[in-house]
Amino acid sequence: MLLRPLKETREHTASYYAATLGTHTVYPSLQDTVDADVCVVGGGFSGVSTALHLVEKGYSVVLVEANRIGWGATGRNGGQLIGGLSTEPETFEAKFGREGVAAAWRMGVEAVEIVKQRIEKYHIDCDLQFGYCDVALKPRHMTSFAETLKSQQDKGYPYKMRLVPRDELRTMIHSDRYLGGLYNEGFGQLHPLKLCVGEAAAAARLGARIFEHSRATRIVRGQLPEVHTEQGLVRANSVVVCGDAYLGDLVPELSSRNLPASSFIIATEPLGDRAKTVMNSSLAVCDLRWALDYFRISIDGRMLFGGACNYTGLAPGDITETMRKKMLWVFPQLADVKIDYTWGGQIGISMNRIPQVGRLSDNIFYAQGYSGHGVAPTHLMGKIVAEAVDRKPERLDMFAAYSHMPFPGGKWLRQPLYALGMLYYRTLDFL
Ligand SMILES: Cc1cc2nc3c(=O)[nH]c(=O)nc-3n(C[C@H](O)[C@H](O)[C@H](O)COP(=O)(O)OP(=O)(O)OC[C@H]3O[C@@H](n4cnc5c(N)ncnc54)[C@H](O)[C@@H]3O)c2cc1C
Repeated sequence: MLLRPLKETREHTASYYAATLGTHTVYPSLQDTVDADVCVVGGGFSGVSTALHLVEKGYSVVLVEANRIGWGATGRNGGQLIGGLSTEPETFEAKFGREGVAAAWRMGVEAVEIVKQRIEKYHIDCDLQFGYCDVALKPRHMTSFAETLKSQQDKGYPYKMRLVPRDELRTMIHSDRYLGGLYNEGFGQLHPLKLCVGEAAAAARLGARIFEHSRATRIVRGQLPEVHTEQGLVRANSVVVCGDAYLGDLVPELSSRNLPASSFIIATEPLGDRAKTVMNSSLAVCDLRWALDYFRISIDGRMLFGGACNYTGLAPGDITETMRKKMLWVFPQLADVKIDYTWGGQIGISMNRIPQVGRLSDNIFYAQGYSGHGVAPTHLMGKIVAEAVDRKPERLDMFAAYSHMPFPGGKWLRQPLYALGMLYYRTLDFL
C-alpha cells in the first residue's frame, strides 16, 4: 500500500467535526510580551483542560496554540469517551503496591467524571451520550471481557456493565462480524471539537488569555522561564507543554518518548431511517485488535467509522477507499452510501502505554502519550498537572516515577523501527 504524509493547513482539518462546529471564538495571535503565572503550550484537550483547572484555582494563564484550538488529535478523534488510563491499573503494582492499583483505577473512573462535570458546569453543547460496547472478533476476546467485567465489579465500578451474547448483540449492532460484547453504561460518545472549543471559551471567560496561530518556537528554562512564539514572548513562573504528537522539535526529549501514529475516520451522509438498520445510535463501539476499528452514529445520523492505525505516522494513498472497505467489512448494507468527510490525525504513543505526565525541571511540566485513548485521560492529566503547579504534586509524581523511556533508533530511525515492531502485534490480530 502506498503511504504518504497527511496534508495539513493551520486551520481545523476538513472533518465532520469542523463542518458542524458552528460559531466559535477566533483568538488573536500573540504579537508582544505578556506575563502570567503559567504558560500552557498547546490547545488540545491536555492544554485546555490544564488551563481551565488552573484559572479555576485563581492562576493567571496564557495558552499559546500553534494553529487553532482543538486543531490536533483533540478535534479529529473518534469521540469515544472511554474511562481508564490506556494501561491496566495493575501496571502500577510493582512500584506502588495494591494502593497504587486502587488509585490508578479510581483515576480512570474520575477521568470520565471530569468530562461530565465540565459539560454540565459550563453548559457545553457537545452531543454527549452514554452507552458503549467493546466487541469480540475472537473467542479469546470474550474471555478477556469476562475477566474485565469481574475485575471492574470487584473494584466497585459504579455503572452498569454486562456481557452481551452474540444474538443480542446483533439486535444492537446489525453485523455478522462479532461474537459478543461487553456493554458499559459509564462510557459514551461526544463531539470532541465542540467540547474543546467550549472548554477554551469557559477558560477565557474565567480570565485565561488564549492565542491561536502562535507556535512556541523556543522555551528558555530558568527561574522565570520564557516561551518564545513566532511573534511574541510569554514570561511565566511555570510552563506546561501539551503538544503531544504534534510537538515536533520544540522539546526533543519529549518527542523522542512519544511516537506519532496515524488513524483515520470517514463520516457518511446522514442515514436517516436507515441508521436503525445499522446499529443502535446511542452506542459507541470499539473492537479489541491492536489495529482496532471504532465506530458510532453521530447525532445527525451519520456513520462515523474509524481505524487503520498506522505506526509509521503516514496515511494510505486513498484514505476514503481504505476506510470504506473497513466499514463495509462490518456493515455491507452501507455499500451505496455516500462518504461526506474523510480525515486523519496523529496519536501520541508511549512505549509502555502509561500516559506521560511529569516535569522537565522544577517549573516546566508536560502531559502527552495517551496511546490512542485520550479524550477522558487528558482531562484527568490536566487536573493532575494543575495540582502539581499548585504545589500538590503527589498524583503527578505517581506518573513521573515511570521513566517514559525514549524509543530506540534516534530521530530518523525510531519511527520505522517501531512500525516494524508493531507488525508483530498486528499479526496477533489474525490469530
Ligand atoms: C483519528 C484519531 C482518533 C482517536 N479516537 C479517540 C477516541 O475515540 N477516544 C479517545 O479517548 N481518544 C482518541 N484519540 C486520541 C485522542 O484524540 C488524544 O489522545 C488526545 O486528543 C490528545 O490531546 P492533546 O491535547 O494531548 O493533543 P492534541 O489534541 O494533539 O493537541 C496538541 C496541540 O498542541 C499544538 N502544538 C504542538 N506544538 C506546538 C507548539 N510548538 N506551540 C504551540 N502549540 C503547539 C498542536 O497544534 C495541537 O493543537 C484519537 C486520536 C486520533 C488522531
